[in-house]
Amino acid sequence: MADRGRELDRAAHLRKDLDFLERTLEAEGTLLVPVWRELHVVRGERLVLPNARAAARLLDAGGELVWLGMLAGKACFAIDIDALPDPLVEPSLGPGAELIDLRLSAARLPAEDTELAFYARALLLWHARHRFCGRCGAPTRPRDGGHLRLCTRGECGLEHFPRTDPCVLVLVTDGEHCLLGRQREWPAGMYSALAGFVEPSETIEQAAAREVLEEAGVRISALRYAGSQPWPFPASLMLGFIARAESRKLTLDGAELEDARWVPRGQLLCAPRPDFFVPGTHTLSGQLIAAFARGDLELGNRTTTTPENP
Ligand SMILES: [Zn+2]
Repeated sequence: MADRGRELDRAAHLRKDLDFLERTLEAEGTLLVPVWRELHVVRGERLVLPNARAAARLLDAGGELVWLGMLAGKACFAIDIDALPDPLVEPSLGPGAELIDLRLSAARLPAEDTELAFYARALLLWHARHRFCGRCGAPTRPRDGGHLRLCTRGECGLEHFPRTDPCVLVLVTDGEHCLLGRQREWPAGMYSALAGFVEPSETIEQAAAREVLEEAGVRISALRYAGSQPWPFPASLMLGFIARAESRKLTLDGAELEDARWVPRGQLLCAPRPDFFVPGTHTLSGQLIAAFARGDLELGNRTTTTPENP
């Protein structure tokens, strides 16, 4: 399959151009990104992007339609096809298609397909959860190519925009060790960097320090930004940091983490084991852990030692 090109041009200036959007949906070559009950349609290792002209049944399903932008010169819309009883029988999706959960299987797709699928998923989930105005309770309706929902009650008229919830992900290090934890509901044996949502009226630096202290009882310093990743399950933006531990003693809160441990760099370089493995490098956490294992993330040792040091 030809490379579709990595960059999606979101073409935000076209969101308000209703004539353009209506014409484009009918035009040759316009692509759809279907999402069915939070699952994505793939064939082999690529996202299936049916041509809108050949996909009347998907369009007729009556789900939300959202302008995504231009992908390698082709117009692209996300479409909610939840109403179809079985999307895999649709001829426009072709034979050999299957449905996957990107939370589990994002590593299977190339990065450009994952980005497109995440974008479509994030917007369609937001629509599904914001059908009514949070201020007055009246129905809302989509506008601006699906990038805004407007309250239909005239005297209210509140505009609702897609949400993104910032979440800090902190890889805490102490020399040759990093701090990894696990939540009870994760796959058995999986450990990851500590994470939590930024709370209202809190800086991301405060959120990082608070989350690590709450979950593991460790104070941190030398917080350094390391990268970000959209994580639309349903609407997170992961903000990745590396930080230095000010002490080694772990005190678990018992609520969020069922276990946390200091993991030596050498163990991270070993093959995964059933009782210990880390997220894949399609996740920001996996990327931070891999970079630490390679020695690409260094904060040095803390300057003071404490009695609980091993
Ligand atoms: Zn309202």
